[in-house]
Amino acid sequence: MSELAYPYEAPASQALFDRAAAVTPGGVNSPVRAFRAVGGTPRFMVSGSGPYLTDADGREYVDLVCSWGPMILGHAHPEVVAAVQEAVARGTSFGTPAEGEVALAEAMVERVAPLEEVRLVSSGTEATMSAIRLARGFTQRTKVIKFAGCYHGHVDSLLAAAGSGVATFALPDTPGVTGAQASDTIVLPYNDLDAVHAAFAAHPGEIACVITEASPGNMGVVPPLPGFNQGLKDACAANGALFVSDEVMTGFRTSRAGWYGVEGVVPDLMTFGKVMGGGFPAAAFGGRADVMAHLAPAGPVYQAGTLSGNPVATAAGLAQLRLLDDAAYAKVNAVSEQIQGLVTEALSKEGVAHTLQTASNMFSVFFTDGPVRDYEDAKAQESFRYTAFFHALLANGVYLPPSSFESWFVSTAHDERAVQRIADALPAAARAAAEATA
Ligand SMILES: *Cc1c(COP(=O)(O)O)cnc(C)c1O
Repeated sequence: MSELAYPYEAPASQALFDRAAAVTPGGVNSPVRAFRAVGGTPRFMVSGSGPYLTDADGREYVDLVCSWGPMILGHAHPEVVAAVQEAVARGTSFGTPAEGEVALAEAMVERVAPLEEVRLVSSGTEATMSAIRLARGFTQRTKVIKFAGCYHGHVDSLLAAAGSGVATFALPDTPGVTGAQASDTIVLPYNDLDAVHAAFAAHPGEIACVITEASPGNMGVVPPLPGFNQGLKDACAANGALFVSDEVMTGFRTSRAGWYGVEGVVPDLMTFGKVMGGGFPAAAFGGRADVMAHLAPAGPVYQAGTLSGNPVATAAGLAQLRLLDDAAYAKVNAVSEQIQGLVTEALSKEGVAHTLQTASNMFSVFFTDGPVRDYEDAKAQESFRYTAFFHALLANGVYLPPSSFESWFVSTAHDERAVQRIADALPAAARAAAEATA
């Protein structure tokens, strides 16, 4: 898709992108930021405030990405900023234990009942990588079941059929992951319990864990069918494997206790990131105390990190969690529903085939008659319509995820003015989607 297809330009972003491309592969530090799925120049942002982002060309956008989930209170929330400033002034890293990491762990354990103990790390990738290692160490088994379309970070053994970024670029397998690493991973279709039972039957005593997104958001929003997560838990329990629920995206977003708070299925291990870091690199894994006891220095499974539990990151995360009370979730849910309604109305009016799927306040639109229950369904959508829809919204000051395989995110800061801007931009975008050709 050529940039010239769009009636507006972004010269300052383009100049930055050109500079970036000279020193960084593809000009970005995380692939989906590059706009390759939708074409055009990625917008370089210079500031964020509440529900808005401002780019290098001085254009303001209503942000429906929210840094891929973390900014659930909006950008530069004054209380989070104050907590960060206070922490920074006391020093940015000690390389020793400090109270902030205890307080953040306590806040998490208090909110999420199955979380008896947590270990803090710096990214969601580290969290899932470490949880898998711990599951293998605990069970003394090697194989891992994951689901097509679920993304668990760029962990070698989990980069098979991994949704969004990988889906966007249609890389079936990434070079650099060895056959040995991939061969211990069993990839199954999402929402298919029969496939899970068959895999356990085919590999008796070999499966260390099943890892799943608690409610997937990395192939677009594809919630678990009723009973699916419980079925996974039961199959794991019956076969001596651990059930690992990846709540990096859903944790502290879909409710005060994440997706666990919505569905109540008790995992053995859980992973977190995004919201818990308040926009800083903080993530975690945790769960059953008897399993976590196998982690160094309490136990033999090694795991470490120079910046783990960083005092500035934990201050930001703690400030954000403290502000996320029931009223905050009610607000995020309400504005999410409002925007969902506007999107459905605009697309229906133009007769565009679409399916809007939700998981609490996470939602996304698939350009297909649904329902979308797994990765194959998600891939069957008419992504070219998303491209037209995306650019029409961008041109009118609304920033969507630059891929049709992503969740949209809102915040407590999305107020009436922000919603009105979305409402104003939607009719033209729906028309563009209707008129789009492959
Ligand atoms: C974002 C994400 C990850 C990876 O987290 P990073 O901090 O990007 O490494 C893992 N699992 C899920 C479900 C995610 O959405």
